[in-house]
Amino acid sequence: MKGRIHSIDTFGTVDGPGIRFVLFMQGCALQCMYCHNPDTWNNDGGKRMSVQEVIAELEPYLEYYRRSRGGITVTGGEPTLQAPFVAELFREVKRRFDLSTALDSSGFCDPGHAAELIQATDLVLLDLKQIHSAEHKMLTGMPNERILRFAQWLSEQGKRMWIRHVLVPGITDSPEHLTALGKYIVTLQGVEKIELLPYHRMGVYKWQHLGKAYPLEGVPVPSDDEVERARAILLAGMQSAKETSGAPDSIVRIR
Ligand code: SF4
Repeated sequence: MKGRIHSIDTFGTVDGPGIRFVLFMQGCALQCMYCHNPDTWNNDGGKRMSVQEVIAELEPYLEYYRRSRGGITVTGGEPTLQAPFVAELFREVKRRFDLSTALDSSGFCDPGHAAELIQATDLVLLDLKQIHSAEHKMLTGMPNERILRFAQWLSEQGKRMWIRHVLVPGITDSPEHLTALGKYIVTLQGVEKIELLPYHRMGVYKWQHLGKAYPLEGVPVPSDDEVERARAILLAGMQSAKETSGAPDSIVRIR
């Protein structure tokens, strides 16, 4: 079996615990306005590689991943589009090296399609982009019902999750949205951490290179104060709904 690979980072430090081998898969069903990898969207692009070929790229750095309690993270694009390939890769790195496996996904996926993959996944980094479906569609081109179903299914499996949320001024940072998102997260089991990712403009050159108009032109990068304000609102939303579940108190900013 071969997968379509966009690129590889052998020294990732922000996509899961420790130092990680990060594999970017080609292909995505969403078109997020802030995407910094629009060159992954095309399902036919990328380099075709076998599981063995990917492992040969990983193996020289194994000691770094082991010593830092890191592992492998597969991201994209959307890795669940190539679920059988990623499942085989994860099973193989577990069998050979007993390495931890993380899947960074938008969740735009049907549970039945990803069941085997999730079985071989230790940690899901689940990107919740907008809790209101109509606004989600505006932001990504697709509604979010399928994503919320997937999140619910992961929760029912007791899968370990880190929730990620990209903060875009004027689009994903309203108090009403953040409060609703916080309340929703509390309904999920298995959430260990929430990561707020301030939107950044590092991928703009790729949009230009592809001849696409950048949809967030003129939208400022959030300031530290705005990130802190969002964090506080999200946390308050969670606490107001919490009484009950074991949702985490920690919301961290990354990147
Ligand atoms: S899900 Fe990720 S790769 Fe796909 S469009 Fe959105 S940001 Fe880009």
